[in-house]
Amino acid sequence: MREVRTRFAPSPTGGLHLGGVRTALYSYLFAKKHQGKFILRIEDTDQNRYVSGAEQYIVDCLAWCGLSPDEGPHIGGEHAPYRQSERKESYKQYALQLVESGHAYYAFDTTEELEKMREDFKSTQNPSPQYDHTTRMKMKNSLTLTNEEVKQLLAINTPYVIRISMPANETISFTDMIRGEIKNDSNLVDDKVLLKADGMPTYHLAVVVDDYLMKISHAFRGEEWLPSVPVHILLWKYLGWENDMPHWAHLPLILKPDGHGKLSKRDGDRLGFPVFAMDWHDDKTNETIKGFKELGFLPEAFINLLALLGWHSGEEKELFTKEEMIVAFSMERVHKGGAKFDYEKAKWFNHEWIKGLPAKTLMPSMQTILLSADIPLKDEPFLLDVITLVKDRCVFLNDIVMQSSYFFQAPIAIDFDAIKPKWADDKALFFSELIHQFSQLDTWEMQGIEETFKTLATEKNIKVGELQFLFRMILVGAKFGPGVFDIAYKIGKEETQSRIQYLLQKIGTV
Ligand code: GLU
Repeated sequence: MREVRTRFAPSPTGGLHLGGVRTALYSYLFAKKHQGKFILRIEDTDQNRYVSGAEQYIVDCLAWCGLSPDEGPHIGGEHAPYRQSERKESYKQYALQLVESGHAYYAFDTTEELEKMREDFKSTQNPSPQYDHTTRMKMKNSLTLTNEEVKQLLAINTPYVIRISMPANETISFTDMIRGEIKNDSNLVDDKVLLKADGMPTYHLAVVVDDYLMKISHAFRGEEWLPSVPVHILLWKYLGWENDMPHWAHLPLILKPDGHGKLSKRDGDRLGFPVFAMDWHDDKTNETIKGFKELGFLPEAFINLLALLGWHSGEEKELFTKEEMIVAFSMERVHKGGAKFDYEKAKWFNHEWIKGLPAKTLMPSMQTILLSADIPLKDEPFLLDVITLVKDRCVFLNDIVMQSSYFFQAPIAIDFDAIKPKWADDKALFFSELIHQFSQLDTWEMQGIEETFKTLATEKNIKVGELQFLFRMILVGAKFGPGVFDIAYKIGKEETQSRIQYLLQKIGTV
């Protein structure tokens, strides 16, 4: 069997949409499942859309997701270069080969002439005429000019493009790995430009040439590329490479949460969730668009949730490690209908992943987050215990700040409005007595703390529940967190006493 080689071929034009990451993920999983290679190719032939920094950003996003390519612009490989702008010279010969064999032609039309054509041929049946088999013979190209005239125009460096000559009345069919057989009517496809006036190939020529030269066996991409397939198939055929053509799969769209239309960057802004893998800074607008990473998603959760947006394993199971996905993945189980993006479900995946991973694994990223929030961290064993205590309460990695800061410093804000209705003189007495009793304890361990607390509550005839609530407010400042005796134990005797003392002084004054 042919070696499996898949590719992710993004254009470096901005933030990496989750649909793009999913294409990369499926390509990666498929390649790994078949002991093949996953290749990154940067499709930067459209210089007008090129955005500096976007290529590095793509490489960083893939690295964060754990989808490291086997070959790519940043690591090289047998088929380097992997950046189309650096392969510019290799495309022209194929465009010329196509002109030679009669499957493509030079077109010298100016912008004005193209506009005029669109005006002149406009009719009610055909409101937007294209450059195709119905119009090409009325235009200025090597099909309508004599050889002499063409030579002349080329000799004086007249700008030209090379266009494919789409045949009339042909059915162009192919088998999509997800959609089965797809038939296209060649009459509906225009004579796409293959080589631009600046000598750069268009996407159509470059994608075919590179998939061939890079020996791509399976090409997965978004469903929006389906209309381009007839052009690509003909190019494979006309260049004599038909037997090497990759198997194609056009992945379903990722839809807005309500199912109406493709999920766009703007939907994310509007509905308050990210659509990019990582933060993307747009230099033009000086705006930073939030990414899943910076919002506190785990890469494991991110790829897990993306995998299930379009693929179903056939089991009930929803949580998959990357290794499990490699084993379970198959293109047969990718559905063709669009997949609705559900942010609540995305959060659920992240929460489950945070709960499931050991504290030790979560520690490096949580440590970074805490440090950047200026939390005065203690030693690593302490941090590890704290993460173990609170990680189940974190939906996002960043929740660690709110969920754990009171372990490292006294609460910055205390919710006195919640305390006051429950406060009374007997409670004040209880807590000042508690400080004293804690001083009597030889060792500071959980059982002793809890027993002292509860025995004193019974003696004072006050409900333990109410006191525990107040104790939590004293230690945490608010109504959340793990067991209150766990917290007291962890922060230590003196800190516990000092927080009680602080509240006793403060409560009278607020
Ligand atoms: N460069 C195209 C894109 O940006 C890739 C399409 C393909 O994979 O053929 O989506």
